[in-house]
Amino acid sequence: MALDKPRLTVVVSGPSGAGKSTLCERFVDAHPTAELIITTTTREARRGEQDGIDYHFVTEEAFKKGIERGDFLEHALVHGNYYGSPRKAVDEARQAGRDVILEIDIQGGLAVKSRIPDALLIFVTPSDVSVLKQRLLGRGTDSAESIARRLSNVKRELERISEYNVFLFNDELDAAVRMLGCLIEAERHRIARYDTARLFNLAALDSVLQCTQ
Ligand code: ADP
Ligand code: 5GP
Repeated sequence: MALDKPRLTVVVSGPSGAGKSTLCERFVDAHPTAELIITTTTREARRGEQDGIDYHFVTEEAFKKGIERGDFLEHALVHGNYYGSPRKAVDEARQAGRDVILEIDIQGGLAVKSRIPDALLIFVTPSDVSVLKQRLLGRGTDSAESIARRLSNVKRELERISEYNVFLFNDELDAAVRMLGCLIEAERHRIARYDTARLFNLAALDSVLQCTQ
């Protein structure tokens, strides 16, 4: 039986410092059939971030024009900056038969779910949320003000976890990357995604299983 595996739209969200970018990058590096969508933002590039690789960095004016043109599958104001998922990149990845990975905030994740109802929504967090502070300080890329703002949003984000499908604890990184792969594969094997009569060729099954002896 040849299993024509469905490709998925996967949303990865969670508090700042949970390790979403690290996890997603590690995952797509190991899975060429998955594409991490480069999203668009008005936030300033951090040290080491590159335009067109980490984000499409644009001005607020350009972002608002993008909204008017309908360029974004979803967009949201997050931690004081605008972010949006380019519709064209998502459509192209889906048409190319790749799994689409969107590392976006919860508002964006729920907007994606309303447009792509079979999207898988994954909520990433360390099991001990107090380590978020250490991780953001350790990342060394954000100002004290930006870190404080991100941490002040954690409670509100965790309060919405029940709107997501599954959670993923990112404590030990390698284990979390493996778990991300497991969650995606489990979702890919959800029976509702298949036409099981076709999958098992039920129309011809009686003759296939006929026992003549
Ligand atoms: P997010 O994208 O969720 O804001 P990052 O991926 O930037 O988070 O990770 C924040 C910091 O935590 C980075 O310095 C990263 O290297 C580190 N980190 C990520 N996952 C782990 C982990 N499992 N254990 C320890 N540090 C981690
Ligand atoms: P950061 O500034 O740390 O890169 O990202 C801040 C937040 O914005 C994270 O929660 C990240 O997932 C989210 N984000 C990144 N791109 C998008 C996007 O295109 N849309 C939405 N809604 N959120 C995004």
